[in-house]
Amino acid sequence: MESAKELTKSQEYIDREKEWTSPNYTPIPAVLSKGEGIWVWDVDGKKYLDCLSSYSAVNQGHRHPKIIQAAKDQMDRITLTSRAFFNDQLGSFMQKLCEYSGMEMACPMNTGAEAVETGLKTARRWGYYHKKVEENKAEIIVAAENFHGRTITIVGFSTDPDTHGGFGPATPGFKIIPFGDAQALKEAITPNTVAFMVEPIQGEAGVIVPPEGYLKEIRQICTDNNVLLILDEIQTGFARTGKRFAFEHENVKPDILLVGKALGGGLFPVSAALGSKEIMNVLSSGSHGSTFGGNPLGCAIGAAAIDVLLEENLAEKSGELGEYFKEKLETLPKDVVMDVRGKGLLLAIQFNDRGGAAKKYVLAMKERGLLAKQTHVHTIRFAPPLVITKEEIDYAFGIIQEAIEEVRATL
Ligand SMILES: *Cc1c(COP(=O)(O)O)cnc(C)c1O
Repeated sequence: MESAKELTKSQEYIDREKEWTSPNYTPIPAVLSKGEGIWVWDVDGKKYLDCLSSYSAVNQGHRHPKIIQAAKDQMDRITLTSRAFFNDQLGSFMQKLCEYSGMEMACPMNTGAEAVETGLKTARRWGYYHKKVEENKAEIIVAAENFHGRTITIVGFSTDPDTHGGFGPATPGFKIIPFGDAQALKEAITPNTVAFMVEPIQGEAGVIVPPEGYLKEIRQICTDNNVLLILDEIQTGFARTGKRFAFEHENVKPDILLVGKALGGGLFPVSAALGSKEIMNVLSSGSHGSTFGGNPLGCAIGAAAIDVLLEENLAEKSGELGEYFKEKLETLPKDVVMDVRGKGLLLAIQFNDRGGAAKKYVLAMKERGLLAKQTHVHTIRFAPPLVITKEEIDYAFGIIQEAIEEVRATL
């Protein structure tokens, strides 16, 4: 009886959401109403360990007290000024973000896609102003299986038909090469190439880690050809992969760095494009902007979000616990799990043909109190908040193991 009643309560919310909301998502049927740290609860009071972290936007955990306090304090003062005026939060937040990432200047935006658009606009202008590419001839190279967001320009260079189908014509000026293939980049560059934009680990593609040395090689190729390297660290940044940014794994630096997701501390959309002063200065007055970008509430939240990463050593923690978690995942039955990959606490397992579609495992994990999401058909990403402990990873792995055993027994 109890479970029938529970089902009804969640079902009401699900039905209403479906009735009034465009159907561009297929959520796992957990109706969440509360979160704290690594845990979330549904409307029926069932508790789950969050192993998605809103696609790595909740690296600091749900409702981190320090970030919530910073937001509350700021809400009691001022929340939105527009960039028509200065505000007392933006300068110190941009300084903190630049110092955290080792960049010189930042353009504040809100969503990841806006940071990407900012990076692309900046690269084109840099191409015309500094590289002296002929007007309207600039080319930007991207990688196959990329995910950079949902604007009409960005989906135009996606190779996933679900993402771009029906949204043409694509914005011109983009060229797609295979991911992880430095030679392909070398061959694709022309005198009109202004930038190569790539994720250091492809998150949405299924946590695809490029061959070792790839970042170093593409860095060198971009430098040799006077092409900007744009790294999209919207998902991989802010301690997710065991370093502040994934580019540190190979000791390289991008010319333009794109950040978002965890910069908002799980509260609020905060994103940015960062670069050297020479590059960012092409965004002259009036050439770009955002009504909410750089708003004092977002700045206060973003600053607290970075403070938490530093104070709690989340990059080191992510590296150590990620290795521990990965070793455990590697013990899953090889007759259904064909691959375990990732860095830090950005991990994924991929099922083989016998294991079949990932969704049934996801649903079995949900029943046992762990939330994860399949990406593409055969892969599940595990990316818990970085405030997770070793004991909690043991607990998560127990659920993952049991759920896989349960489904495997039915194959
Ligand atoms: C999520 C994501 C984006 C887009 O961010 P939004 O905030 O959803 O616009 C861009 N790039 C990468 C790598 C992402 O993971």
